[in-house]
Order: sequence, then structure tokens, then C-alpha cells
Amino acid sequence: MNDRILLSPPDTGPAEEEAVLRALRGGWVAPLGPEVDAFEEEIAAYTGRKHAVALSSGTAALHLGLLNFGVGPGDVVVTATMTFAATANAIIYTGAEPVFVDCDETGNIDVDLLDHAISDLQAKGRRVAAIVPVDLLGKVANYEGIVEIAARAGVPVLSDAAESLGAWRNGRPAGSFGDASILSFNGNKVMTTSGGGMLLTDDADIASRTRYLATQARQPVIHYEHLDVGYNYRLSNILAALGRAQLARLDSMIERRRQHRLWYRELTDKIPNSRVFGIPDGSEGGDTRDNFWLTSIILTPPDGSATAGLIAHLAKHGIEARPLWKPMHLQPAFSHAHSYRTGMAESLFQTGVSLPSGSAMTTDHTSRIEAALSAYSKQSRWLDHVQA
Ligand SMILES: *Cc1c(COP(=O)(O)O)cnc(C)c1O
Repeated sequence: MNDRILLSPPDTGPAEEEAVLRALRGGWVAPLGPEVDAFEEEIAAYTGRKHAVALSSGTAALHLGLLNFGVGPGDVVVTATMTFAATANAIIYTGAEPVFVDCDETGNIDVDLLDHAISDLQAKGRRVAAIVPVDLLGKVANYEGIVEIAARAGVPVLSDAAESLGAWRNGRPAGSFGDASILSFNGNKVMTTSGGGMLLTDDADIASRTRYLATQARQPVIHYEHLDVGYNYRLSNILAALGRAQLARLDSMIERRRQHRLWYRELTDKIPNSRVFGIPDGSEGGDTRDNFWLTSIILTPPDGSATAGLIAHLAKHGIEARPLWKPMHLQPAFSHAHSYRTGMAESLFQTGVSLPSGSAMTTDHTSRIEAALSAYSKQSRWLDHVQA
């Protein structure tokens, strides 16, 4: 099938082409330039932050955010087990040890368990150097709870908002929470620079140290003097131009994803033992909302897991589907890490399937998805009643 329907492919067109050409023709090809400055200002304004530093990836932003907090060998960093590996990888880069905390039914970090984990680690004499909450699939985590626990424990918060740009919680935009936060503009995210990321903060010192570390830690002298080990982590001017064109379209792209979510909700209403993951849209009040990055469905057939069968069936029809993130405490790469668990993340991993959700998805795509789900219903007991 050459027209494979992907989970969240890039959505680009004439505006993006024009922006990239503008940057090229303007002569600012060497990494930094005016598009980077403007992109930083626009994202800072969009997320309500004082400072934004454009970087080569969300992973780089996590790494530099942690270094800013002085995280290093011997420390522990507490994060969500329900996340993408980049969150845990960045912790490992600093030499610190990740400690994983389970999620609640929203998929985001379980705040009561986080509280217990931090007191337990501190009682054991461990230095908890940072908390890294993750906004899963575009839903902002419970920062009221997290920030209170962090303040009591004297630990800084680095918010992993890689998936949640454009979402809100209680009147505040994703990316505005914590001492610093990070965004990703990878090709599969809600908007993209093909590859890229950003660190956001209200603290001028964190912003300037991030810029310094991201450009090889150069002292301002002609012969390149280095007091610290630096990184080559800045975003290029050409990619920043692409990001600006995407940002101008972000709200309309989010609206498209919201429409897909509503459509999946109607579809799963017709399928027994299935539901859309997350609470119904709009039920949280006007100033809390998803960015609808990925829509996942939860399958709870009485006879156990049906997710693998459905994913394989959709693959045969050229439709990409995946389980929710495999929890970090189950990953061989992090098998030595300590974790605090309730079983929720494992249960979501077993029952959740993410489905195509991209803003460029067409009605042709949605009817193919509906047909494939309906065909699967004929060979699977739990889908018996699809009336597609
Ligand atoms: C995508 C993602 C990242 C990493 O971002 P990159 O830009 O791909 O490095 C980090 N955390 C989460 C939760 C992500 O989904």
C-alpha cells in the first residue's frame, strides 16, 4: 500500500516552502540568524514564557534543562514511567539515575505516588535533583499538585511538554509550567521543524546558560576559550523559518486533530468494550484542553488483550497503529532503575492503541480507517456490533 496512513506525519504546504526559501534567499544559512530570534520570540509569546531557546531537538532541550539544575552523577531524577524514551535518555546523559513513577488514569504522573516517591527517596538520603513530569499525548499534567510537592521538597521542575504545545490547563498554556519546560518539533509532533526543540523558562540565567552550553560553551574571545564542556545543540535558521510557518497554522492544525478525536469518539461509541482514551472533550471547562496530538483508544474485551490483533489488522490495510508508550520500567535499557508503581501504566500499555491523528488526514483516510475497523469487527468478538 503506497498511501500508508501514518499516526502523525508532517503537515506542510506552500507556506512552509515559502518560509524555507525566504531563509535561504536571505543569506542566513549559517546556523543562527533572524528567523531563530523571531521563532523564539513567537513561541515565548504563545506559551506565556519570558525566554525561549531554540535547540536541535526536544532531547537536547531536556539534557540542557537538567544540566542547568546542576543534575549529575549520584543524583536521582524522578520522572514518569509512561513516556517516550527520550525523557529517560536525557537523564542518563547527565550521569544521574532516573526513578520512574506510575501514572493515574489520565496517563500522566500519579501525584500521590510522586509525593510518596520523593519523601521515600529523600528519607533514604538520596539527592532528588529534579522532577520531570510529562504531558502525555497532549494532555497537560497536574502541575498544581506537582509544583506544590516540588516546592515542599526543594526540587526544581522541568516540564516535558514535547507532546503538548497548544494544550492548556486551568487557563495556562502547556510549556508555561515548572522552572523550565521543553518542546519538541520532531516530524511527528503537533507542529514540526523536521527536527528541533526548545527550552522555555522565565529565568534569564537559565536561558543564557542554555544558549552558552548549546553553542560549544565559547567564551567571548577571539581564540575560542572554553571553561566548560559544551554541546552543538542550536536550531538552524532555515528550520526556524519552517517552524514559524507551522506556528502560524498551529491553531488550525489543532482544530483538525480535535475533529478527528470527535470522529473517533463517535466510532468507538458504536464498538462494545472500546472507548477513546481521556475524558470527553470540553468536560474539563473552557480553559483546560488537549492539543489532541494523538488519539488512542482503550480496548477492554472480556477475554483479554485485543490490541496486538487490531494493530496487525490495521497494518495489513496500510494503517499505522501502535500501543501506548511501553513504560520505561519495562524497558531493558532502564531495567536497573528504581520505580514506584500501581500497575496503571502497564494496564494502559496492554489495552491502549494510538490511531492516525495527523492534521493532514483526509476524509479518504478516515473512511479507510472506519472500513478497516469495521472489517476487523467481523473476525473479532469484541467488535461484533460495529455499524459502520
Ligand atoms: C518526542 C518526545 C521527546 C523528544 O523530542 P525530540 O525532539 O524527538 O528529541 C521527548 N519527550 C517526549 C514525551 C516526546 O514525546
